[in-house]
Amino acid sequence: MEPMLIAGLIEVCRATIAANSDHLCALDRAIGDGDHGTNMQRGCEAVSAEEANLTSLPLPDAVEKIGLTLVMNIGGAAGPLYGTLLMEMGRELRAEEADDAFPIILKRAIDAVARRGRAAVGDKTLLDVLYPVQDALAHRSRLSDTARRAERSAGDTAPMKAMRGRAAYLGDRSIGHVDPGASSCALLTMAICRYLEENRPE
Ligand code: ADP
Ligand code: MG
Repeated sequence: MEPMLIAGLIEVCRATIAANSDHLCALDRAIGDGDHGTNMQRGCEAVSAEEANLTSLPLPDAVEKIGLTLVMNIGGAAGPLYGTLLMEMGRELRAEEADDAFPIILKRAIDAVARRGRAAVGDKTLLDVLYPVQDALAHRSRLSDTARRAERSAGDTAPMKAMRGRAAYLGDRSIGHVDPGASSCALLTMAICRYLEENRPE
């Protein structure tokens, strides 16, 4: 992947989270402690600040480093989870089976997030967006369809009862609200898909 493409992706992720930070905090106020937007913004700003260094690294190293930066800067529950996703993806990209198709690499990384959070599909977390996105990619969906699947999946967390994280303390009262982590994940997926469609490497 070209350094330009990585730099572009870092910037669209940063801009998307910055534009939606208040919205993500509002979602988190409803079923958590109201900091998801600021947590994600801190993480993305930290990654952006390292952009010049990141784009000089081989792709697996850059992805792993982004994960580490996210762990150190997002904080909260989401930091280690988004961090694990990227660190694991970096390791998988580096591994000998690096020829594996991206959906397989992504699946292993999401499984690592699930282990880390002791969470599963249906628990009302970012996993409820990550797995459907992975499924869309594995079925060779178009980027625009993958983005729509992410958006729909985040919405689908509303009727779920939270089983993990702060929202789980609310029990049934968590029902009826979109999960903030699922929402940030969908927003990022949509931004990444749109960017890749517009800047598709031929
Ligand atoms: P905190 O809950 O520490 O304030 P954030 O508000 O930044 O952290 O992130 C909350 C989001 O993290 C939730 O909306 C959910 O998607 C995700 N999350 C929390 N705990 C878990 C878990 N154990 N497994 C998977 N995702 C989780
Ligand atoms: Mg929170």
